[in-house]
This record gives sequence, C-alpha cells and structure tokens, in this order.
Amino acid sequence: MDMQVSFLDRLFDSGLLIDTGVDGLYGRSGQFEDVIAAFERLIDKVGGADGAEAIRFPPGMNRAFFETSGYMKSFPQLAGTVHSFCGNDHDHLSLLQCMEEGKDWTKEQQATDIALTPAACYPLYPTVAKRGPISMEGGLFDLQSYCFRHEPSKDPARQQLFRMREYVCMGTEAHVTTFRQTWMDRGVEMMKSIGLDVEIDVANDPFFGRAGRLLANNQRDQNLKFELLIPVTSQTNKTACMSFNYHQDAFGQKWGLNLADGSVAHTACVGFGLERIALALFAQHGLDVAAWPEAVRKTLWG
Ligand code: ATP
Ligand code: ZN
Ligand code: MG
Repeated sequence: MDMQVSFLDRLFDSGLLIDTGVDGLYGRSGQFEDVIAAFERLIDKVGGADGAEAIRFPPGMNRAFFETSGYMKSFPQLAGTVHSFCGNDHDHLSLLQCMEEGKDWTKEQQATDIALTPAACYPLYPTVAKRGPISMEGGLFDLQSYCFRHEPSKDPARQQLFRMREYVCMGTEAHVTTFRQTWMDRGVEMMKSIGLDVEIDVANDPFFGRAGRLLANNQRDQNLKFELLIPVTSQTNKTACMSFNYHQDAFGQKWGLNLADGSVAHTACVGFGLERIALALFAQHGLDVAAWPEAVRKTLWG
C-alpha cells in the first residue's frame, strides 16, 4: 500500500482546495484565489502594452457555434453540454417518481442552446467574424474563462472546470507566428521570475480515435502546438501550464475571418492554465505562502 500522502490530499488538508466529492471539481480557498489573482496581474503587466481588446465570456457558449467549431469531431470525449427539463406537469411527475425510485432521471433532459466552453477562445472566433474584415494591423484579444473538460482525475492539475487566460492573435502568418514566439519567450521569463523550473516542448492535442492519431502526428510534425512544462505532481511527467497554438488559416477558413485585403486570417492563441500555475507554485515553494521566497512574493505582490 502506498503510504505517501498525495499532493491532492495535502491540498485538501491545507484547505487550499476543497473536496466536492467529484474528481476534478474543487472549491478553492481565498489564499488559492489570491495567488491566481496575483499571477493574472503579472500577465496584465507583461501583456498590457500590447493593447489587446479584453473580452470576458461566461463558461457556456452558443451550442450552434460549438457545433460549427468541430469540437465533437476532434474531442467528443471531453465535451460537456447543458441539458434541462423541458416537460409539462405530467412529465414533472414522472421525473420526480423516477428520482424517488433511484432510476436514471437524466434521460429525459433536453439539450439547451448552451454547451460548456472547452477553451477560452472558442466563443471569440464567431464573435469577431460577425464584425467584418480585420484590419491589416491584425486583431489581438485578451480572454479569461472557466473551461470544462470531461477528464476526471486524482491529479489536482487535471480538473474538469478550470480557468484559462488566453491571448488570441488574428492577422497574417508572419504576424501571428511572431506573436506566438513572443509569448513563448515571455512565458519562460515569467515562470523564471516566480521561481519555477520551465521547459518548452512540442505537443499535440488528444484527438479522438484512430483518425485522431493522424491529426495529432500532423500537429506535432508541423510544430503547431508547444507547451510550457513545469513539474507539479511529478518531476518526470511535467505538467503543461501554458500552451502556444498556431492554427494556420484553419479557424480563419472555418469562421470566415478575413483581413481587409480579402485574404483569410491566420490565428494563434496562447493559454495560461491558471489553476496549474498556482499548483506549480504551491508544489515548488510549499503550501504556506508566507514562507515563499521573498523574491517570488515580491514579483507577485509587489
Ligand atoms: P494536457 O496535455 O495536460 O491535457 P492540453 O494540451 O489539453 O493539456 P490546452 O488544450 O492547450 O491543454 O489548454 C490550455 C491550457 O489550459 C493548458 O496549457 C493547461 O495549462 C490548461 N489546462 C488544460 N487542461 C486542463 C485541465 N484539465 N485542468 C487544468 N488546466 C488545464
Ligand atoms: Zn485558444
Ligand atoms: Mg488535455
């Protein structure tokens, strides 16, 4: 038997994370949130002069847009949809009876117009497309959202509802690839400034099924996705705390994002996993924030 207390148990014991009875669904203490808030201020400081347009969407998105995005083709295993009771008095009685008998009452739930947001940038593309052509200077957006992914786990760094802060760039190929490289360099510097060990590596998304393996290989071969890895729960299996994605003109084509000269926009996004970064800090510097290295505290809280 493994007598070691897991990182998750230590987080529960310290009160930083609060057990809800569901793996990957946690409450967070004020202290945990304070670390996330401080790190977000650091992001603001580093990215602030770029003049990104800030937009905040709720953690649910228009289901029609979710369908257009193709998420169910690539990641059906991760998706979450919102269903509701849409019946009459009679249906309500059967629902209550079903619950009373401990049977599956959810089968009669109907899909609503809302799907849970899988990545902070998903609601952005149709929103920008509706505005018309993007100026030749390009578009830059600052997003933050709770995201849902059905990947229950005992690893505290793999949650089902977590926050992603993103910058999204739309423009020419040269513009968006420069944007991505800039944030890879900034990401490394930011993590170093808070005492975290970082490494950047090429990565791929977990495309579903046999056909998905091809897509994943292609993404890797073309260097379309990089991750910034930090040890959180393991020194050997490091955790992706940021990702840097170049979509080429795939999203531009899909959503009809055009530049003023009529060409299809290229897009790239960089995402910070906010809970993961907080957890990396707690793993590296300990669960007591007051005992963190002075330099780290100073970077985060001034
Ligand atoms: P992983 O390979 O660990 O599953 P990912 O490739 O799925 O990560 P992205 O889809 O690129 O991650 O999401 C952007 C960022 O969101 C990641 O870099 C990570 O920091 C964070 N993130 C992704 N999945 C989770 C999760 N289940 N719980 C907490 N944070 C997550
Ligand atoms: Zn994105
Ligand atoms: Mg994943």
